[in-house]
Amino acid sequence: MTSLLPWLALGVAVAAAAWLWRRSRGDQRALAESRRELADLHHARETQWVEEQTKQQAVFNSMIEGLLILDEDGRVQFANPTLGQMFRLPRDVRGLTLLEALRLHELQEIAVRAASEGRVTGFELQLPGDNGRVLQVNAASVRDPDRAHAGTILVFHDLTRIKQLESVRKEFVANVSHELRTPLSMIKGYVETLLDGAKDDPAVATRFLQTIEKHADRLTFLIDDLLTISQLESGSVALNLQSLDLREQVAAVARDLDARAVERQVRLVNEVPEGLSIRADADRLQQVLYNLADNAIKYGRTGGEVRLGGRRIEGDGVEGWVADDGPGVPAESLERVFERFYRVDRARSREQGGTGLGLSIVKHIIQGHGGEVRAESTPGRGATFYYTLPAVP
Ligand code: ADP
Repeated sequence: MTSLLPWLALGVAVAAAAWLWRRSRGDQRALAESRRELADLHHARETQWVEEQTKQQAVFNSMIEGLLILDEDGRVQFANPTLGQMFRLPRDVRGLTLLEALRLHELQEIAVRAASEGRVTGFELQLPGDNGRVLQVNAASVRDPDRAHAGTILVFHDLTRIKQLESVRKEFVANVSHELRTPLSMIKGYVETLLDGAKDDPAVATRFLQTIEKHADRLTFLIDDLLTISQLESGSVALNLQSLDLREQVAAVARDLDARAVERQVRLVNEVPEGLSIRADADRLQQVLYNLADNAIKYGRTGGEVRLGGRRIEGDGVEGWVADDGPGVPAESLERVFERFYRVDRARSREQGGTGLGLSIVKHIIQGHGGEVRAESTPGRGATFYYTLPAVP
């Protein structure tokens, strides 16, 4: 019996060891399993985070607004490419303070205010020495869960184009008011003089009434031209494009202007070769030719010559021109004559019944056909106005 005891003890010990070994193997497997699950979870989280970051980056990169994110110390954490373009940043500004990055004290003040007040909206920032570029800045403080300041987001909208349009519109309204006021005050002046007694002298009364009629006509021309410009600019008139013979179109305008040409002893010459076909809206083309030829008669030489020509050019186009042999246009005004209300000689234009809108209408119509306008001149020897139009193949 006593000799069996050690064997029994050994057996129990082996069984216990085997049980412990099995248990520890089981624990190890479970541990490995948990580790794997943890690693999978971690990997999934990481992938999700990377995906979210990529999406966010893509959104920030495609924004037309500039975006700048500052950390809680006021250092740049992120700047999107639009911001880089807006401020023409030569390098990566991450890690710099706002002042070091953009060098604008006003912006620094906005960031400080946003951090203390929570947000700053609609601040307009004029960029120094940058052709009047204007940005609108909105800034908001980012708070962490315990409401502590954790950073600032600044969003920049480029308002330059809107501001420019606003100023063009203001200038246009001011110009129109001025243009309308001039003939109106003339009419009023003459009517008052008539009422004050001039009406009793038939000769004077007739002369005054003729002047009033001239100014009333100017008002009508001006309003007609303004309506045309506004229709052309709003794009509300669809062009009725058709195949037209340029020589015939020029001949029709020359007939309409015959009386005016005779009055100023100007010879109108149609030099357009036969068979030159263009694709254009007939009424609009008549307006272009009329305005150009009328100017050439008005501003050209009394007793001079106005030539209307045309030729095929490369790329399926036709170039037409109206040339006079008058005093011409000074070099610095060659481009500006196509602007609304621009006149080289204001008094002369008024005296001729000009509205200052004729060439602007020409430019709009030609551009509406996909063509271009330009003027050339040798002062003292005349001016030539060119336009291009699509040819009929
Ligand atoms: P306006 O009603 O004053 O004629 P336009 O827009 O037709 O307005 O022309 C603008 C200005 O361009 C004119 O006031 C005139 O000073 C100048 N201009 C136009 N055509 C000629 C030309 N053939 N020769 C010289 N100057 C011209």
